[in-house]
Amino acid sequence: MLPGGLARSYGDSCLNEGGTLLATSALDRFIAFDRDSGVIRCEAGISLAQILDLVVPAGWFLPVVPGTGHVTVGGAIANDVHGKNHHVAGSFGHHLRRFELLRSDGSRTLCSPDANAELFRATVGGLGLTGLITWAEIQLRPVTSPWFDVETIRMENLDRFFALETGARPPVLRGGTSGLSPVSEYSVAWVDALARGDAVGRGVFMRAGHAAGAPAASEPGASRWSIPFDFPAGTLNRHSVGLFNALYRSRASREWRAAREHYTKYLFPLDGIARWNRMYGARGFLQHQSVVPRADAAVKIREMLSAVAASGEASFLTVLKIFGDHEPAGLLSFARPGVTLAIDLPMRRASTLALLERLDAVVRDAGGAIYPAKDARMSAETFRAAFPEWKAFQRHIDPAFSSSFWRRVTAR
Ligand SMILES: Cc1cc2nc3c(=O)[nH]c(=O)nc-3n(C[C@H](O)[C@H](O)[C@H](O)COP(=O)(O)OP(=O)(O)OC[C@H]3O[C@@H](n4cnc5c(N)ncnc54)[C@H](O)[C@@H]3O)c2cc1C
Repeated sequence: MLPGGLARSYGDSCLNEGGTLLATSALDRFIAFDRDSGVIRCEAGISLAQILDLVVPAGWFLPVVPGTGHVTVGGAIANDVHGKNHHVAGSFGHHLRRFELLRSDGSRTLCSPDANAELFRATVGGLGLTGLITWAEIQLRPVTSPWFDVETIRMENLDRFFALETGARPPVLRGGTSGLSPVSEYSVAWVDALARGDAVGRGVFMRAGHAAGAPAASEPGASRWSIPFDFPAGTLNRHSVGLFNALYRSRASREWRAAREHYTKYLFPLDGIARWNRMYGARGFLQHQSVVPRADAAVKIREMLSAVAASGEASFLTVLKIFGDHEPAGLLSFARPGVTLAIDLPMRRASTLALLERLDAVVRDAGGAIYPAKDARMSAETFRAAFPEWKAFQRHIDPAFSSSFWRRVTAR
């Protein structure tokens, strides 16, 4: 068997073909919320969006959220998810105080960084294989409003990304941020993956921070769209993606722009479009998210982006971000010091798979890793090279638990 959350993982780590999936949708209760200390305890099937709905009006925020609010607490722990603030806050597991793990022998074990610490480290990022998390306790962080101060900066190429990420502020910013809070806490760059040559890495750099002193209670005011049907095959091609990219880049038509946005808009942009995955048509898409060590990241990221641009495949959403120097919270945590690149490719079978193999080779060569939560195809060798602790991890697996992903990457 395998615990299941909201199935927001892109590959087969949340699947268990031929086995049983333990639905956690009924584990949907809040247990305790201390409004003074910001400690919340809830069952593992609660989503991060539900937690934010409760705690933001009380002046608290989750310390780490991924790019969607529609993931469960159990899923966030099992993939040790990261957000746009990894360089500051680390990953979800760094903020867990404790959780309960129910194993197939009926035992219930309380795990924390101090109690049953090995099982704690195995379960954080443990892909649901060590047992069922029934509830968890998380330390929240204080905020004064649901708003973010957001800066959008034009990025001409990859050099500019690294200059911005290492804190260099563009000249136009001098004195331009008065009245805004420090905005380097959450950052991410969207990249035009069709750009070639000197323009590789061009795109839009966004950084943001929790706004201070804004009114506490306010509505996001975001419209909610829905994609009514699967788009026909080939809708997302180099031409349509090129058009989209040009439009997206026009967000940064000026070198720098500042705005105040609701947290849902900045942190969860795709949550405003229900069933956005239908844009990729019935064949869907594959995401390739990798992390490469910082030392030669500029070279390796350029190599991957150039391979995508030259391939004829059209990556619709391409995202770059720096991971901070935090010790990973779990034995199999993906987030580690380095630079992470995520590429979404419409599935065109052989040509798409061939490109992904090329990207894997760059990542392997760099000593990097591919994110299991986003993977449906990496080889056993690629996984094992990037997650050398997988052998030590194995002894923590519940004997009744398995997943399609685990069988694939540990097969001989
Ligand atoms: C639009 C979008 C943006 C995303 N952005 C990011 C991002 O920025 N950063 C990031 O890290 N990830 C990101 N993700 C991936 C997502 O955060 C993870 O895949 C997350 O784990 C999904 O949670 P889920 O509740 O859907 O769990 P599922 O996908 O259903 O399961 C994920 C894993 O959790 C295990 N699991 C679930 N519940 C339990 C439980 N109670 N006990 C034990 N194990 C359990 C499952 O067995 C499985 O191994 C994104 C996904 C989407 C769709």
